[in-house]
Amino acid sequence: MAGRLPAYPWLPHLRGTVTAGPPIRQVHLTPAAHAVIGRECRRSEDGDETGGILLGHVHDAVAEIRVAGDPGPGAVRQPDFFLRDLGHAQQLAHDAFTRDGSIWIGEWHTHLAAAPVPSERDLATYARLLADPELGFEAIVSIIAVANPQWDRPAAYAWTCFGNQAAAVPLALSTDDHCMTAPEELR
Ligand SMILES: [Zn+2]
Repeated sequence: MAGRLPAYPWLPHLRGTVTAGPPIRQVHLTPAAHAVIGRECRRSEDGDETGGILLGHVHDAVAEIRVAGDPGPGAVRQPDFFLRDLGHAQQLAHDAFTRDGSIWIGEWHTHLAAAPVPSERDLATYARLLADPELGFEAIVSIIAVANPQWDRPAAYAWTCFGNQAAAVPLALSTDDHCMTAPEELR
């Protein structure tokens, strides 16, 4: 597995006292989740960000994304911001948990003008989720997709957000239990 991104580059504006590495060090996408992100990215051809919830499992510092959600009818889609439809996400989460025990482990969204790096607004959203004791997040996986150069061929980057930090982590396509390759380009 290899990615073009260096291992765990700390975001400069978040650099601080680092006492431990990220709780999630790799993100694997199942083909089904990969297909949804690849398809849903095309919504951003209208000039607004899109995205959805990420559901799956975390084991041995590897997050396996089994379900990537679509935005849902109540999502907030703006040129520089996305917030998924909460009720829609909760239904997807309920269905996935019933099916295979998948839990909410993060979110994905597109960036139109900005680099595929969590924005200050994204980080504030993740910080609120991390601070909610009822949600019990140790870390949040964030996948950010950008046109490459068109939306029918996006490129995606994975981040793990924990404490007040965010780190880039390798993103790979997996089968159910075996990591095969490392496509940063979603085709
Ligand atoms: Zn963003």
